[in-house]
Amino acid sequence: MQPQAAAPARWQRLWREAVRDPRELLGMLELPEAAVALSDDAAAEFPLRVPRGFVARMRKGDPHDPLLRQVLPLDEELRPMPGFALDAVGDAAAKAGTGVIRKYRGRALLIATGSCAVHCRYCFRRHFPYGQETAAAAGWRQTVDLIRRDASIDEVILSGGDPWSLATDKLAELTRALAEIPHLKRLRVHTRLPVVLPERVDEALVGWIAALPWPLTVVIHANHANEFDAAVDAALARLRDAGAALLNQAVLLRGVNDDVEALAALSERAFAAGVLPYYLHQLDRVQGAGHFEVDDVRARALHAALAARLSGYLVPRLVREVAGDPGKRPL
Ligand code: SF4
Repeated sequence: MQPQAAAPARWQRLWREAVRDPRELLGMLELPEAAVALSDDAAAEFPLRVPRGFVARMRKGDPHDPLLRQVLPLDEELRPMPGFALDAVGDAAAKAGTGVIRKYRGRALLIATGSCAVHCRYCFRRHFPYGQETAAAAGWRQTVDLIRRDASIDEVILSGGDPWSLATDKLAELTRALAEIPHLKRLRVHTRLPVVLPERVDEALVGWIAALPWPLTVVIHANHANEFDAAVDAALARLRDAGAALLNQAVLLRGVNDDVEALAALSERAFAAGVLPYYLHQLDRVQGAGHFEVDDVRARALHAALAARLSGYLVPRLVREVAGDPGKRPL
């Protein structure tokens, strides 16, 4: 008799039910197609994907909703923009092995998987060749061996795609192998899942965290206060209770959060959910995302206004990633 495959977890079922048709999304939001410059070509290049729980946080009838703008494929993406490239942050040049990127001293970034629960139109990895370049696809062994051989690496960062889109038993397989490397001291996860699909933070994931031999930092990604709701708060509380330190990184995005009210509300809302603001990134200049760019003069002015208004610990660092730099460059 064939062994039976485990039933998918609830979060996996919700993942599969994500909205993928831009017209279905507009219908759910009671928006006529004429209200937005939808692009089938942009959707063919980088498909729409958004969990239904995230759609429920968008305002109906508002084509400028800040959550909708982050996910809707628009004509503007196809406009050629000088200086915008396929690999905006030099990932290809920093590749140390299949699925491993080495940019900064002491740290190795694992492209654990190419999958995400949501497709963010401004994503700097929207053109990344995930098919061949994930650590999971290559088998963990090669990745783990590479980290084992380099004693200067003391922190592993699970990135992607979204590393928590991997099934929990896959994550456990990876971290069991990493646990045998004596020079590792810290684990970090970069994930948007606790925000866009909070059901991902289930009992199995909390159990995985509890079994880790290193302190865990979870860097979530929210760009607007409206991305938080009671389910997100509960997921973040479960992560904190499991012992994870929580930070937020946001991207400064025109038409989404490029005013001081929106940025202040984001910091305050994240903090209320137990998350410290960490980075506010200047947009990575990836092809297709030019319409989200805020120029540096305005970015600095917004950041200064934010600093004048909030307690220091609520002000994220305004940074840009520059290929070849030894760390994020402050603006
Ligand atoms: S979740 Fe992160 S990696 Fe995935 S599309 Fe959004 S920004 Fe890119």
